[in-house]
Amino acid sequence: MAADEALIFRPAVEVSFEEFGILIPIDDDRTAQVLASLAHAGVDTGRLVRVVEEPLIGREDLLRVHTPSYVEDLFSSGLERRLLEAYELVDERGGYVRYDPARARRPLSELLDRVLLGASCTYLACLRALEAGYAFSCAGGYHHAHASFGHGFCVINDVVIALRRLVAEGRIERAWVVDVDAHKGDGTAALTQDDPSIATLSIHMAGGWPLSLPPTLPDGSPHPSHIPSTVDIPVHAGKEDRYTSLLEEGLAGLADLLPEPDLVVVVWGADPYEKDTLPSASELSLSLDQMFARDLLVWRFLQDRGVPASFLMAGGYGPHAWEPFSRFLRWVFLEG
Ligand SMILES: [Zn+2]
Repeated sequence: MAADEALIFRPAVEVSFEEFGILIPIDDDRTAQVLASLAHAGVDTGRLVRVVEEPLIGREDLLRVHTPSYVEDLFSSGLERRLLEAYELVDERGGYVRYDPARARRPLSELLDRVLLGASCTYLACLRALEAGYAFSCAGGYHHAHASFGHGFCVINDVVIALRRLVAEGRIERAWVVDVDAHKGDGTAALTQDDPSIATLSIHMAGGWPLSLPPTLPDGSPHPSHIPSTVDIPVHAGKEDRYTSLLEEGLAGLADLLPEPDLVVVVWGADPYEKDTLPSASELSLSLDQMFARDLLVWRFLQDRGVPASFLMAGGYGPHAWEPFSRFLRWVFLEG
């Protein structure tokens, strides 16, 4: 397999937080741990993995999804304020939360370049999936970003950005987003509610963030986080044993409702895992076996229909976040 036949895309630099003075418990080396575990198991990662060095996603791609004034802020002196907002580093009184600029070794503004690199991995994994049937990105899945603001650690919505670009390029007409991250894909649902080319399914914690957000924004307009996905599947705490059958019903419902898509983006997320350390993901607690069953279900559903699928790592926090990703990828490349 040549380097241009890679099936796993990773950014040359990760969206790490600690070096920016941000105290979010995402493990900077989860990708490295996943890839090391694959290599250890005998997967030829040297040939499968492409390191993405330069952003392929730029301002014009963002403008297909985000408002002109938000995009203008991101590419001007408004960037820092927008990053503080998206990573939720400021409280209502203007004080810093989970952020200590004194500990930063890099300017916050460099985070945007890293986000654009992650979004580029999303786009490349989608392109590659259209050729090969499937591909994986070790970044992306920024499903909470809305048209005019970011939140939930998501600055731009790479999922919709990649899909709108593929539609504009004439490569696809219809896509689905299957979001199995612990949190509702609120940004993706809101951005695509009037877009007949993109349908969304989100299975997520029935309570907690972002569903706990107030019904209106500070300006009095309805909060877009409450806009429904095409198919929403809330899972209540303690009902993890029903997760797989609920997901199966939801996927079947989407297939009954809509014609088959040209591409599916899976917002993959390891944060439903019981060993995830993010407090806001604690209401969903799947075992490693249940995580693997989830991934197999999605995989087989799409493979059986011959629908190309691009998997984005999305959420997954703490020292064990790599384990569900690794389990499934080992199966794909060694047994699938
Ligand atoms: Zn999440």
